[in-house]
Amino acid sequence: MQTMDNFNFAGQKAFVRVDFNVPLDENFTITDDTRIRAAIPTLKKILADGGSVIIGSHLGRPKGVDGKFSLQHILPRVSELLGVKVEFANDCLGQEAVEKSAALQPGQALLLENLRFYAAEEGKPRGLKEEATDEEKAAAKKAEKANQKETAKQLASYASVYVNDAFGTAHRAHASTAIIADFFDTDHKLFGYLMQKEIDAVEKVMKNTARPFTAIMGGSKVSSKIDIIENLLTKVDNLIIGGGMTYTFTKALGGKIGDSICEDDKLDLALSLIQKAKDNNINLVLADDAKIADSFSNDANTQIVPVGEIPDGWEGLDIGPETEKKFAEVIEKSKTILWNGPTGVFEFDNFAGGSKAVGMAIVKATENGAFSLVGGGDSVACVNKFGIADKMSYVSTGGGALLEFIEGKE
Ligand code: AMP
Repeated sequence: MQTMDNFNFAGQKAFVRVDFNVPLDENFTITDDTRIRAAIPTLKKILADGGSVIIGSHLGRPKGVDGKFSLQHILPRVSELLGVKVEFANDCLGQEAVEKSAALQPGQALLLENLRFYAAEEGKPRGLKEEATDEEKAAAKKAEKANQKETAKQLASYASVYVNDAFGTAHRAHASTAIIADFFDTDHKLFGYLMQKEIDAVEKVMKNTARPFTAIMGGSKVSSKIDIIENLLTKVDNLIIGGGMTYTFTKALGGKIGDSICEDDKLDLALSLIQKAKDNNINLVLADDAKIADSFSNDANTQIVPVGEIPDGWEGLDIGPETEKKFAEVIEKSKTILWNGPTGVFEFDNFAGGSKAVGMAIVKATENGAFSLVGGGDSVACVNKFGIADKMSYVSTGGGALLEFIEGKE
């Protein structure tokens, strides 16, 4: 397979699928341009070689053509970061897109309008009536799959080479991310630099693992992390559990959790995960104490109590100081670290201490030579909040894509 460094883009027109799905405020101002910045090296290399780029992305979840989700909102920033005036096509599929991509000269860039203005990008029918029969639903699905192929073919026709640099969408088989690749031969399709970096980081953690390997799983619910925990229980040396899912484990073990968040239908699952850890000789590290609150608010009254002794009317919103120490000790001795999910409600400053302690322990381990990968939405927000993102070995740009990769899915 071709790589970015080996491929000479001189005279080539590249269709580059990026993930410019950035957050915008109510005035359509970008509030975090990380994802745009992340794809710039790929775009710059193509232009520097003497190629041209046709940039495709989605933004948000439009149900059809909708100005709120127009990529025009981000066009000035893309031009600014790329250092060239990027042209814009008001449609990704119409005549304008065809003509503007045909007219592109070496060194020029064109941004297409939101790919998800068309249902065919995702290949899923939109607006299906609930009362539709199973046959009607199946027919609509089949038609949209055919549309998806046609859409991919049309997007492919704009370019001589295809580059996928959209790691954030890599777990979706969409027209512009997966199907389009069928329309290029092996020598004319490749991963961009960002995609390659993400893959290298996950492989370093999951395949070429330096030991001990510690995963820290936090967040609110165990149900959304079952597959990843199951897979990690065959790979890690230490699995630290923090965040809201702590209380499902605590209750399953017979503790009192007061009003803490808990999934009562997952108590058996928690017990089976504990058993699996034992069977696999994996050190499952659970919280000993909790910082509890008498309401779900930053200004709530607080107490530190043993995690299984939370009174009614109180809920655990962070780990306690003993647990911070216990987690940090394990983390600091590790050589590979994966962090997904905060240990508490880090959005409230008064309950961000546990997540910060975990973050600082990872910083220390990384300084001592460990490889640390942080990923999946909220942990990235955490390291940004604490100003330690640049002290991690790698901070992933992918949420769902990263999690599915770690779960072991293709
Ligand atoms: P997730 O998207 O599953 O990774 O969950 C992240 C969210 O979990 C964050 O918004 C945290 O505020 C929340 N969270 C972490 N710990 C707790 C807790 N003890 N109780 C309620 N929510 C929590």
